[in-house]
Amino acid sequence: MPVMQVAQVSRPKGPFEIVERPIPQPGAGAVRIRVHACGICHSDSLIKEGAIPGLEYPRVPGHEVAGVIDAVGPGVAGWETGQKVGVGWNGGYCGYCDHCRRGEFFACVRGQVTGLTFDGGYGEYMVAPASAVALMPADLPPADAAPLMCAGVTTFNALRNSGARPGEVVAVLGLGGLGHLGVQYAAKMGFHTVGIARGKDKEPLARRLGASLYIDSQAQDPAAELLKLGGAKVILATATSGEAMSAVQAGLAVNGMLLVVGAAESLQVSPRSLLLGCRSVKGRYSGTSIDSQDTLAFSVRTGVRPMNETYPLDSVSEAYDHMISGKARFRVVLTIGSV
Ligand SMILES: [Zn+2]
Ligand SMILES: [Zn+2]
Repeated sequence: MPVMQVAQVSRPKGPFEIVERPIPQPGAGAVRIRVHACGICHSDSLIKEGAIPGLEYPRVPGHEVAGVIDAVGPGVAGWETGQKVGVGWNGGYCGYCDHCRRGEFFACVRGQVTGLTFDGGYGEYMVAPASAVALMPADLPPADAAPLMCAGVTTFNALRNSGARPGEVVAVLGLGGLGHLGVQYAAKMGFHTVGIARGKDKEPLARRLGASLYIDSQAQDPAAELLKLGGAKVILATATSGEAMSAVQAGLAVNGMLLVVGAAESLQVSPRSLLLGCRSVKGRYSGTSIDSQDTLAFSVRTGVRPMNETYPLDSVSEAYDHMISGKARFRVVLTIGSV
């Protein structure tokens, strides 16, 4: 029986183990993907550290997958072997529950999460429900595509659904794995893009990514600086610090929105500011496969790319530790196989 290498976690807080497993066959409604690259996302720590009770182990993490379909299960329409594809956090939806019937596919009651409820992309092959698969542009290198399947779609989809119009002020709080993509998307969408981060040294990067203004939150009051521009229509909060999010919201314009995509523990809001200025605080789910597909296509068309540090699958432990240290510039990606 042909075998493959995967990196699995056998128990909460357990180490990564490189093991051989039989190459899986895709069941009904699923496809098998030969993985070429898989990003390491902070959310993979949910598996590694066992943060969610009831998860099944061993598990192969990874929800920033780029590869090629190499087998198609029974009953799959619209996909064929040889297509370059990606798989993200959303691991598919049923299509018939009440949420799906309302078009809220992300909230499907039978929804799966890639690399969490089924094995993900830290390996040579994986099997995914066809509804989880996004078509990848042919000329996008796999290592570039992988982080776009989570960090990319998260920021792209939040911004394109934010209601902000070209020319309006959109601030991106944080210039890390999410934020460095958020600034690029905001600029390419035609917003008056403002980057906010800690330290003067990040200004050249913010400007290179397309920000027309940079606010150093250590030296300046970001809210006051945003108000000088008339306030931000949207502040895309990619940082994981609730304090930083709380501090910027006074910089929202009338009808402005604090759009939360960074998983902070808690956040303080001023009810008075919300009601007097019709302001809002909103979270945004990353997106489903068609959102990822749109993200990939937009990125290729406009030249948006993640900045990555790549590691081979064998070095998964080192790669994960680097990601979790917060020192990665900016996404960590496993390159797998010959590509
Ligand atoms: Zn992720
Ligand atoms: Zn459903």
